[in-house]
Amino acid sequence: MRKEFCGIYGVWNNENAAELTYLGLYALQHRGQESAGIVTARKKGFLVQKGMGLVSEVFPQESLNRLKGDAAIGHVRYSTTGSSSHGNIQPLVIEYQNKSIAIAHNGNIPSAGKWKTKLESEGVIFSTETDSELILKMIVKETGDWEERLKKTLDKLEGSFSLVVLFPDKLIAVRDAYGYRPLSIGTKGESILFSSESCAFDIVDAEYQRDLQPGEMVVIDSSGMKSLFLENREHQRCIFELIYFARPDSYVFSQSVYDARLNMGKELAREKKIDADLVMPVPDSANMQALGYSQKSGIPLEFGFIRNHYIGRTFIEPHQKIRDLRVKIKLSPIKNVLKGKKVIVIDDSIVRGTTSKKLVKSIRKAGAEEVHLLISSPPIKYSCYYGIDTPTSQELIANNHSVKEIKEFLGVDSLYYLSLDGLLRACRKTEYCLSCFNGEYILKNGKRKK
Ligand code: SF4
Repeated sequence: MRKEFCGIYGVWNNENAAELTYLGLYALQHRGQESAGIVTARKKGFLVQKGMGLVSEVFPQESLNRLKGDAAIGHVRYSTTGSSSHGNIQPLVIEYQNKSIAIAHNGNIPSAGKWKTKLESEGVIFSTETDSELILKMIVKETGDWEERLKKTLDKLEGSFSLVVLFPDKLIAVRDAYGYRPLSIGTKGESILFSSESCAFDIVDAEYQRDLQPGEMVVIDSSGMKSLFLENREHQRCIFELIYFARPDSYVFSQSVYDARLNMGKELAREKKIDADLVMPVPDSANMQALGYSQKSGIPLEFGFIRNHYIGRTFIEPHQKIRDLRVKIKLSPIKNVLKGKKVIVIDDSIVRGTTSKKLVKSIRKAGAEEVHLLISSPPIKYSCYYGIDTPTSQELIANNHSVKEIKEFLGVDSLYYLSLDGLLRACRKTEYCLSCFNGEYILKNGKRKK
């Protein structure tokens, strides 16, 4: 099964459901740039528009005019393995007993392979590689009403998922019982909205109300709104949402991403004091951390890199060759700022180390006298099984190199990673998944570790 790093959106009870979803997906575009899709529900059935590319490319105006209906779900997707395929684009729709069901999913289900094999042995045919299709095929085999079937399925399918599931007369939003992926609920007048991140409420003038709780399933239909709960699990919010993935103007896990990143910078300044002329971020994902470091240390904040915004994120590009070229295109050092200066550079994380090495080289080439690299998270040593694109553990530089070796590889004067305690203080809660730092997996290859 494929890992997916995605954004999901849902709208209930709004005559412009497709348009709101379109705008919401625009705000979630950073969570996936490979494909996008919207499904709307109306009395006669579903209407679907999806395709490869950015939201702006997939939905021409005429497609939005065509997508009638007062409920909708949407999805932006980035797949992390295998070739891209039109069949895997979400939301996925199936027909069952003359009824349509559509699903949009963010996350990864480590046990999906096991369940797929089981269903195939019972004669079920799969036409995509997605976990979403597995969920749909499992719920139609269960008994009870749709929320009961979904609950039974998701209690079996342990993993990381936030889902929106659309029926002609019902919308269900659910967050896995571990709480790996974010999902929040908002309102706009009488309309109810769901989004991976709250920034996608702001764009349509909706009000962020709250996060769904881990394991919460919100069901909306003509009789109103109710919450059911999946079997209870140990909470494991993905701390990388706060470090890197989510937009800083979002609330995820009921806290401001901006504040969490500012705090990471302040914690770094508390832990590592350096005599330097300026502190600068690797933009944009370390901007707030650099600001926090500057505020706490008193060292001026400068912008030593200019970012080309017309290119996607390097970390989530699938092919090494493209990634190499993109680093150069994406970030240009400013000589006037850097020449002859002792520079503190703040970045959110180091993955393979190849991007950081190129950035350090370009800062030196621009004339910096000293380069001190500070990272606002602990070393990433282990791969993620819960829907985030990380290379295999062997490809992660911190998996098999000491901090001293990484410092030498990068060519910096000093290298410092924020401590785990410092990171947790910055994020103000303790119920986080930390598997990529400590290798302690709750779920791995579909099995629960205890
Ligand atoms: Fe997030 Fe790391 Fe846990 Fe994956 S392993 S869910 S990236 S904290």
